[in-house]
Amino acid sequence: MSLRTQLSLLYALLAGVVLAVLGLIVYTLVSVMLVDQIDRSLSQSALELISITHVNSAGEIAIENIPSLDATSTTYIQFWDTRGKLKASSDNLGNLQLSLDPNGLRYPTPVFRDTRLNQASLRVLSVPLQVESRRMAVLQVGTNREIVDQLQQILATVLGIALAISIAMAALYGWLGTGLVLAPLEKATLAARNIANKNDLSRRIPSVARKNEIGILIEAFNQTLDRLEDIFNKQKRFIADVSHELRTPLTVIKGNAGLLRKMKEPDEESLRGIETEVDRLTRMVGDLLLLAQAEAGRLELSMKQVELDTLLLEVLQQAKVLSGGKVGFQIADIEQVQVSGDQDRLKQVMINLITNAVKYTPSGGQVGLSVKKVNGQAQLMISDTGPGIPAADLPHIFERFYRGDKARTRSADGSSYGLGLSIVFWIIKSHGGRIEVVSKEGGGTTFIVWLPTSGGS
Ligand code: ADP
Repeated sequence: MSLRTQLSLLYALLAGVVLAVLGLIVYTLVSVMLVDQIDRSLSQSALELISITHVNSAGEIAIENIPSLDATSTTYIQFWDTRGKLKASSDNLGNLQLSLDPNGLRYPTPVFRDTRLNQASLRVLSVPLQVESRRMAVLQVGTNREIVDQLQQILATVLGIALAISIAMAALYGWLGTGLVLAPLEKATLAARNIANKNDLSRRIPSVARKNEIGILIEAFNQTLDRLEDIFNKQKRFIADVSHELRTPLTVIKGNAGLLRKMKEPDEESLRGIETEVDRLTRMVGDLLLLAQAEAGRLELSMKQVELDTLLLEVLQQAKVLSGGKVGFQIADIEQVQVSGDQDRLKQVMINLITNAVKYTPSGGQVGLSVKKVNGQAQLMISDTGPGIPAADLPHIFERFYRGDKARTRSADGSSYGLGLSIVFWIIKSHGGRIEVVSKEGGGTTFIVWLPTSGGS
């Protein structure tokens, strides 16, 4: 059963139960009030009649004469002795010898009862009359209660019709109302099916104007799709990038192996070529493994106290040798700063950033280094006077395999394949730090690394 049908039935059931209870209360109240009205009028008549009774010389209760009632009157009076003999009755009963309420004659106290006499529905008050605690006669005053029955019937019919209409209206309202509310959900389901059937993650569910629960659900679903599409695209790009990066070294290795086969003597240059490419592949696979572990939050860090200033000076010595005097190095600030981290990984961060600075800065340029404590955090800065990073590239430089336009061509040493900054990013993130970059085309680049300092520093 659909949700719409279920809700409609629920509405109808609720309306039915509420109105049935209300109707029952109204019906009972009105009936009680009507019957009470009749009973009061019967009591009044009985009292008037009792006031004109007297005990005759034979010691019996006698009534002088019953007030003459109109033949069309609906009040009937009977006066019975204890032996069950009718002693007097009102004119409108003609010569009826039957009791208005035969059972009422036996009651020791006054009693109101509903009876039927010749198809007529009556309300009868039977009052035993006593002299010195002796039951001497019974007075019965009755009236036609047809009007009450009719009123009760009309009331029941009206209430019944009102109940039926209310149930039908509640069901209709439930059907139309839930249809209106659920319409966006149906659209969303259709759109979701289309996305699944057509394998098209770029589709979105049209958002609804009203920000109710369904609107929020659609928004959340669309956000999930955004995220999935992004992950999916990154995945596709990643596979394309890996395949592209693997193709070149594999082609070189295959070419060199072919050359070697043709030669009788092993050719030193071809062997070196193979070695270089195998080294490059090994490095790349290592980098990818490190990234995969870091992204999965499983990067193993052997944590200890690391003096960032000492580590920076060590890396600087290596960089100076490797740069071969291409650029000048300048230390702006060097303070004693201690962090808790993995020394080798933090060294890798410095090497990658300094290597980039040297790589992208033209000969004669300057690379600036500084390490200090700012607001209780360790701050490592590596700046250069290179060409800067175009604004369009800036948001992507920490992505895997992302390389700026100028860096697309394969670097001479084959070391550049766009993983350096991703590794830096993830190592810093794994240490609970962050990295910022300030760069402007033609205005040099500055990378700022923030790391939490350890207590001892
Ligand atoms: P790559 O192996 O290409 O250097 P990275 O991940 O280290 O890969 O860097 C990504 C891109 O960021 C580079 O291709 C380059 O465009 C840009 N980049 C990184 N560092 C610098 C820098 N110091 N100056 C200018 N551009 C840089």
